[in-house]
Amino acid sequence: MAAIIGLTGGIGAGKTTVAQVFKTLGIPVFNADVVAKQLMQNSPIIKAQLIATFGDKVYAATGELDKTYLAGLVFKDAYQLELLNAIVHPVTIQAAKDWAATQTTPYVIKEAALLFESAAAEGMTAVIGVAAPINLRIQRVMQRDACTKIEVEQRMHNQISDAIKLKLCDWVIENNDQDLMIPQVLKIQEAILAKLATL
Ligand code: ATP
Repeated sequence: MAAIIGLTGGIGAGKTTVAQVFKTLGIPVFNADVVAKQLMQNSPIIKAQLIATFGDKVYAATGELDKTYLAGLVFKDAYQLELLNAIVHPVTIQAAKDWAATQTTPYVIKEAALLFESAAAEGMTAVIGVAAPINLRIQRVMQRDACTKIEVEQRMHNQISDAIKLKLCDWVIENNDQDLMIPQVLKIQEAILAKLATL
């Protein structure tokens, strides 16, 4: 069973970009946000709970998850969002553990925007944070997703602040316009291996 190292940070901070560097180093990456979306479509447990909680309109007649309908329910309602997360997160956390158990590298990376919010960080060997100035994050996401500043800010609103999140991390990568990212990843990889050697 490979040790699980978390990788988190705010929207647009650069988690996926940093994860890509770890992949290049031969480290398997579990993208919790991507897997959660797949599980919402394919997991019978999640499907049953979503229908029981939000009604059968959550899935179209074809069986496809109606993302627009679900987003409309939870987007501006913190309580409904909490209900959704309470259904999806535990299954995703278990899927990550099952996946890590099959990996043969000394450690794996689990990328998740809501690592601390979902309690997924509990039991992890360490957590890496990715930081970037808020204006740069907004600009990057507007460009990547072709959306407005207001839309990005609304998405950011659902996450705990970076200041709190990054304090909980063992290491922080500064992914701004000045600092080179790859040397920071290499340094953290050394620190991870040193930490694993002490366990
Ligand atoms: P989300 O939480 O929305 O999934 P993320 O934290 O995974 O975001 P990325 O998708 O890695 O962030 O990065 C956001 C955008 O910024 C991407 O288009 C990415 O290519 C770009 N980006 C990230 N880091 C850098 C960088 N150091 N230099 C230039 N562009 C970058």
